[in-house]
Amino acid sequence: MADLQGIGVSPGRAAGPVHRLAPPPPLPPAPAVIDIDAERSRARAAVATVTSALSERADAAADATAAEVLRAQVLMAADETLLDAVDTAIDGGADAPHAFVAALAEHRAAFEAAGGYLAERVSDLDDLRDRLVAACLGLPMPGVPSPGHPFILVARDLAPADTAGLDPSVVLGLITAEGGPTSHTAILARTLGIPAVVRCGAVLDIADGVLVSLDGSSGAVAAGLSDASAKSVNDAQRALLDRRSASAGPGATADGHPVALLANIGSARDLPAGVDVEGVGLFRTELLYLDRTEPPSFEEQVAAYQQVFAALPGRKVVVRTLDAGADKPLPFLRLADEPNPALGIRGLRVARATPAVLDTQLSAIAAAAAASTADVWVMAPMVATAAEAAAFAASCRDHGLRTAGVMIEVPAAALRAGTVLRDVDFLSIGTNDLSQYTFAADRMCGDLADLLDPWQPALISLIAACATAGREAGKPVGVCGESAADPDFALVLVGLGITSLSMAARSIPAVREALAAHTHDECVQFAKAALAADTPTAARAAVRP
Ligand code: PEP
Ligand code: MG
Repeated sequence: MADLQGIGVSPGRAAGPVHRLAPPPPLPPAPAVIDIDAERSRARAAVATVTSALSERADAAADATAAEVLRAQVLMAADETLLDAVDTAIDGGADAPHAFVAALAEHRAAFEAAGGYLAERVSDLDDLRDRLVAACLGLPMPGVPSPGHPFILVARDLAPADTAGLDPSVVLGLITAEGGPTSHTAILARTLGIPAVVRCGAVLDIADGVLVSLDGSSGAVAAGLSDASAKSVNDAQRALLDRRSASAGPGATADGHPVALLANIGSARDLPAGVDVEGVGLFRTELLYLDRTEPPSFEEQVAAYQQVFAALPGRKVVVRTLDAGADKPLPFLRLADEPNPALGIRGLRVARATPAVLDTQLSAIAAAAAASTADVWVMAPMVATAAEAAAFAASCRDHGLRTAGVMIEVPAAALRAGTVLRDVDFLSIGTNDLSQYTFAADRMCGDLADLLDPWQPALISLIAACATAGREAGKPVGVCGESAADPDFALVLVGLGITSLSMAARSIPAVREALAAHTHDECVQFAKAALAADTPTAARAAVRP
């Protein structure tokens, strides 16, 4: 048996035979002579086939995150500059498949040169190229195999279109050679509840059909298992999930200290049927604004918010106002090109240039809230100063929204949490961005995964400062970044004084179980030990020696 190591990005264990992603279509030799009009029509037909197939999958996607990434790919395929480049290549004598290869190679080079978020989207472009070439040649789309039995999917990397369509009852686990903890593969695997390991280069040497197991927490992969050991891994995982799904009710430590366990959603579709959530701790509203050249109307927004509020009568729903810019670019805002978008006009800062967008959104949230019994809270993303927080809270109150808070994602705001809290009702810590800005490490960069680790002592210190400020002010401080879904880290957060944890709904049972197994006092001891640790490894060891 061979032991391999990657980075665990979606918890859980799974075992089964390896099957690789279907290879890209082979490119036939370039013809010496072409019919320009016929090749242009062939290229347009291929774009139409690929965009309609991706749009259909976006509409059918089981969760909002998958729909979002598929729609972003449709936008890329229909981009006018791509079609212009394809026409130019055809005018130069290339047939349609070779024209797509040439045009997308240009885009690829530009994305790579831009770095950051765009460089991470290179695999999306490669996937698009393969789909367009397959459509030109009338071949089946490349992608996830269908061996007719459950399997472990292995790939160099997965494009969003591949990951978004995965069926968790067939794809038992995912192992990729590349990608990072914040890649689409990782986010979608967590949303779908599929155990996943990324950055395990040696996995590409394992032949199809070999039995492997993976641990989506530790990143361990074992190849060459016997049938009996593969079965025992899957049986143990099933028993664990059954036990967890039987646990229900509000979150609390073993001695009854309450900790609200809330869901992160992008639309009502992310609230899984049958999962009884205490409420929503982060309603990301960006989805409504995607793929558009004009912002959604007041009426459209009211309808979308009402759909979510209606699903949660009497329960808390924290709506985050539009968080645009950087890793969430939105065409309708027509933001100027920025050399460093993550440090530019994003989040609440967009309201400086276009206050009407925030104004309409707050009016729509207030109208939808007035027509429902949900307990609606509103918060702003990317707040840096107490003055910004106070102005946002005043604006919420002007719109009749009673409970206004801010996200803590910028170290400046964490360091002054007490002052920020003076004019708002609550804080919600976005550890994804707080890590990025504390460590000057792009959250999309898999190579900097060690710095983006939530167990980094500097991040824990900033969270502690916010929790202390909340305790002193008698106001709630929650965490809604990915770190809240780590059951061990959740214990530390509770020990630091965090009052609610918000995560993908599927992650809630494991966190509920961890809290129920420890007293509040134990959590406080874990937090003290994690705060005293000098490295992430030492901090982890404080909870799990
Ligand atoms: C965060 O930054 O931690 C967060 C929850 O917001 P998002 O991931 O949407 O930027
Ligand atoms: Mg954020």
